[in-house]
Amino acid sequence: SRLVVAIDGPSGSGKSSVAKEAARRLDAAYLDTGAMYRAVTWHCLDAGTDLSDAAAVAQAVRDADLDISTDPGTERVLIHGTDVTATIREQFVSESVSAVATNLEARAELVRRQRELIGEHARIVAEGRDITTVVAPDAQTRILLTASEEARMRRRGLQLGQVDGAALKRQVVERDAKDSTVSNFTTATDGVYTLDSSDLDFEQTVEAVISL
Ligand code: C5P
Repeated sequence: SRLVVAIDGPSGSGKSSVAKEAARRLDAAYLDTGAMYRAVTWHCLDAGTDLSDAAAVAQAVRDADLDISTDPGTERVLIHGTDVTATIREQFVSESVSAVATNLEARAELVRRQRELIGEHARIVAEGRDITTVVAPDAQTRILLTASEEARMRRRGLQLGQVDGAALKRQVVERDAKDSTVSNFTTATDGVYTLDSSDLDFEQTVEAVISL
């Protein structure tokens, strides 16, 4: 029988690494929808699309030839054949991603592609911001992975290495504020489990996801 696990959460909640490890243990595919938003943002930047032109951004997203690996053991994102796996994690992409994330037509296109990818797998763990509510509201298991701001900053710091704490905090808070205009990840809707990982380590969080 089909198994779809939907996981949403803010940046620094650890959801990507947790979702990927849960997928491995569940022998399931894995979909990182944030990587899709990042990849099409990179495509817009690469194509010289005016990010303040909503129609142009939507068109660039519809035109984007995006190929993302759904194997939890292989992180690979291609745009028109160019490997952007590492580049999409860079600051210049993070800074511009809200131009795509707040564009309703671009979201509709990515949601459509995400549903298609999810439909191709009998077992899949998909994570993002709107998976439990918009992309896969019918998933068997829906989880909102939260963590206190303090815990998220701590994890971000570890993730990014030597970065000025105050500037980093501002970046994360600003991106979450922008994100919260398109989806609400602080309040779980009906049927969504809220998993607060603030006081859990990685292993405990993965186990909690598996048991749900
Ligand atoms: O998860 P990650 O930080 O890589 O996501 C990058 C950005 O993509 C988020 O800040 C958010 O703006 C956007 N996003 C989204 N909906 C999703 C996944 C990501 O709007 N389902």
